[in-house]
Amino acid sequence: AKSSGRNCHQFFNQDIQLEAERKAQLHFHLKKAINQNELELFYQPIVNPLSGKIIKAEALLRWCHNGQYISPVEFIPIAEQSGLIVEIGEWVKTQAALTAIELKKSGLFIPISVNVSTLEFCSLELQKRFLQFFDRVVDKLNMEEFPYQMITLEITESLMMKQQKEVSELLSLLRHRGIQISIDDFGTGYSSLSYLVSFPVDQIKIDKSFIHQLETDPRHKALVEAIVSMSRALELTVVAEGVETQSQVDFVNQQQIQAVQGYFYYKPMSKSDFFGLL
Ligand code: C2E
Ligand code: CA
Ligand code: CA
Ligand code: CA
Repeated sequence: AKSSGRNCHQFFNQDIQLEAERKAQLHFHLKKAINQNELELFYQPIVNPLSGKIIKAEALLRWCHNGQYISPVEFIPIAEQSGLIVEIGEWVKTQAALTAIELKKSGLFIPISVNVSTLEFCSLELQKRFLQFFDRVVDKLNMEEFPYQMITLEITESLMMKQQKEVSELLSLLRHRGIQISIDDFGTGYSSLSYLVSFPVDQIKIDKSFIHQLETDPRHKALVEAIVSMSRALELTVVAEGVETQSQVDFVNQQQIQAVQGYFYYKPMSKSDFFGLL
């Protein structure tokens, strides 16, 4: 008992060391993941809850290393800390762009929603590169014009705080070309609501934590109702994320939310499974 404080301390240090080692390992392998074909983009359909029709899909990154699946929740932060996120983000955008082009060619207007990290916009140079990204895709494919209406960018509230003006200008330019801007995990950040007016935004995604707590805490119903009515007043579309149960579907319908994403309808799936659905 005498030394328990010290043991505790030792375990703590050990944990930190193990974590640092795992991070370093993952970083080492992540650097090679693109060239070794270990990344795959999955798609999770977003449906209209009244018709059940697929109206959009979110692209979600998967990394399978040595037969083991590593969650983006773990490797995206590592990619962000190391700067690898820029290369990975471009890989993701390329795959999503190719899928969007294929969908459009098949006459399917199902825009693909792509998660973008704050760090893909963190310098003027990167902002320029981001803006030119779609032109480069068009050049490579010898196309006339990129189908910007087929792409939605999901950004998080943290983006709104950094380099407000520059990022807002970049997103405005993309939006003029037809890209939609969606605020991901809405309500979980710390930024002020005024950015919804000052930023070029088309859509908000209600975070799944609100949807999951609808039944257990009635105050979450009030919160979601408030978000929905505010979105309506600002003419933003709403996506409810993480819908898993019939009662959550019922609530979403009551609120006349027109786009729903969650395991109740579909889990994220491979591109070929996704195309098989359409
Ligand atoms: P997110 O953008 O909030 O994505 C939604 C997450 O919720 C996904 O987890 C999805 O599989 C999961 N989900 C969807 N429906 C349900 C449901 O009904 N119940 C529950 N419990 N979960 C549901 P996933 O695929 O593990 O991705 C986790 C996070 O990793 C994403 O959260 C996003 O922040 C990040 N991420 C994924 N792909 C990318 C990417 O290509 N680029 C970047 N920058 N981040 C990504
Ligand atoms: Ca997202
Ligand atoms: Ca989300
Ligand atoms: Ca998230």
